[in-house]
Amino acid sequence: MIRQTPVMRMCISCRKTYDRKHLLKITKDQEQGIIFQKGMGRSAYICKSKKCYSDSKIKKKLQRALKTSLQTEFIDIFEKEITSFNDYPNKGI
Ligand SMILES: [Zn+2]
Repeated sequence: MIRQTPVMRMCISCRKTYDRKHLLKITKDQEQGIIFQKGMGRSAYICKSKKCYSDSKIKKKLQRALKTSLQTEFIDIFEKEITSFNDYPNKGI
């Protein structure tokens, strides 16, 4: 058995570091635009804590991290994404 060293990333909201697989990755992909968990480009990570993803300033923080402007609908999609992501805590991507 090979034990992999966890890749640590920082949540842009609480600024704590976590194993990457416990964080939702939001990427500004050059071709596909804003996508979750995959893609190439500038990325931001956010933890599953409700305090973080339902933060009223989260959109601003994401915009700053991704250096882009996000549409109003984005937050709805984002909340759906992170709450369903909660259902698969040990999927191990
Ligand atoms: Zn957080």
